[in-house]
Amino acid sequence: MTIFTKIIEREIPADIVYEDELALAFRDINPQAPTHILVIPKRPIARITDVEPDDEALLGHLITVCREIAEAEGVAESGFRLVVNNGRDGGQEVEHIHVHLLAGRRLSWPPG
Ligand code: AMP
Repeated sequence: MTIFTKIIEREIPADIVYEDELALAFRDINPQAPTHILVIPKRPIARITDVEPDDEALLGHLITVCREIAEAEGVAESGFRLVVNNGRDGGQEVEHIHVHLLAGRRLSWPPG
């Protein structure tokens, strides 16, 4: 079980900003931008490399949730970045797929 499952199960606290039957979103504990929110599926898929065709609707739903959160956070017009780290070289630390929603400052490109 990862720390994100514990957040879903309310075993550890988090600053939750959105929840529905499929997804949960909460503020990153170590924010890299003024707005830094993690959007996760409640079903614990470890990595993008574990995704199956049956997961497409769920993963698409996460993007819709990101759009709703961006609007709620007031960053839909100013812009934001969605990031999914995968595996060692991608910098993935938590083995439960999550979309980082970063906003509130001008983000550099390419990422480090
Ligand atoms: P990643 O490196 O893509 O796996 O991202 C994992 C993210 O989870 C990091 O940005 C961490 O700061 C964040 N994180 C780890 N533990 C917690 C927690 N308990 N609550 C909120 N965010 C967390």
